Amino acid sequence: MNYKENNDHLIPSADPRLRFSKYNQEISAAIQNVLQSGSYILGNELIRFEREFADYIGADHCIGVNSCTDSLTLCLKAENIGQGDEVITTGLTAPATAIAILNTEATPVIVDIEKNSFNISIEEIQNSITKNTKAIIPVHLHGKPCNLEAVSKLAEKHNLVVIEDCAQAHGATINNQKVGSIGDYGVFSFYPTKNLGCMGDAGAITTNSSSKAEKVKSLHNYGFDDKGQIINAGLNSRMDEIQAAILNVLLPHLDEYNESRKQYALKYALDLNAEKFHFHPFDNNSVYHQFVIQVKNRDEIRNRLLNEGIQTAIHYNKPLVDHPALAPFCKQLPNAKIASESMISLPIQPEILSLHYQTIIETLNRIG
Ligand SMILES: *Cc1c(COP(=O)(O)O)cnc(C)c1O
Repeated sequence: MNYKENNDHLIPSADPRLRFSKYNQEISAAIQNVLQSGSYILGNELIRFEREFADYIGADHCIGVNSCTDSLTLCLKAENIGQGDEVITTGLTAPATAIAILNTEATPVIVDIEKNSFNISIEEIQNSITKNTKAIIPVHLHGKPCNLEAVSKLAEKHNLVVIEDCAQAHGATINNQKVGSIGDYGVFSFYPTKNLGCMGDAGAITTNSSSKAEKVKSLHNYGFDDKGQIINAGLNSRMDEIQAAILNVLLPHLDEYNESRKQYALKYALDLNAEKFHFHPFDNNSVYHQFVIQVKNRDEIRNRLLNEGIQTAIHYNKPLVDHPALAPFCKQLPNAKIASESMISLPIQPEILSLHYQTIIETLNRIG
């Protein structure tokens, strides 16, 4: 199946059906297996996924949960972070990152991004640390690792927990180590359009600490301990067997998939007219969840692309300060504001681009 069978003349900005249909037979068989197993929650598919994903990331432990939002909430709860505590995060991310902090009743402290990257500003973190700060949640936005080394240094100095939001960065690396294996915790989303995605909601937490893993394992299953007693009120946040089975089919193909995204990102970087479009230099450590260009006349360019059959997206068109429930927790976010007003995410899904990237590049270079 290619995009033309779904949607007459549009090159979609992202279409997870293209990915699932490529592995249709394996996925169907895996789902049938689950149906017949009689085990739908906390079964063998999840056990296998947790082991294989931990191995893939290079972390000692992995706990499969219901979403990345829950993953963040669970890590904060495992650290007893709540009312009166402050957690620093970035102003340019999915709102879920900040919402998870509010879910624990802790106070988000939302800071600006760097000028020359879309990731959290180290200087702004430094300026925002108070005696109430307990944790930092840096995001590897668009699949590109943030400056985690600098984040970790600050965290060590001030005794803060680091939770890496890797929802867009499955397989991205820093000095040959995968993100999610470096901070105290890594959190992942398997929402259908992520680099590794299933057919519903799912998420995971990785950590190298067995005591942290134990705590999260209890908290994601109501708060049961190994004697079947509730020690702390937890959540019901479990990855179901069908989603785990789908992820078990797709995980072995993740590296090849990321490699393909990188190849198309490199082609964009080489072939797009750099005088007309601003974009960050190609980064071999990124897994290119998005390839983002920046233009002044953003809406006009997007409309013209759409008229030529090319769908695009924006990640994100609102910095967190533009969300009424999050605005009170935001510092000044001038860089995030400029980025959100100028950015366009181009199609980068391998199944689409193998046919159409040349059309996208030629169209952009003509109309830009
Ligand atoms: C998608 C995403 C989330 C939320 O993931 P869910 O699984 O939908 O809860 C959090 N952070 C970032 C950076 C994301 O891209």
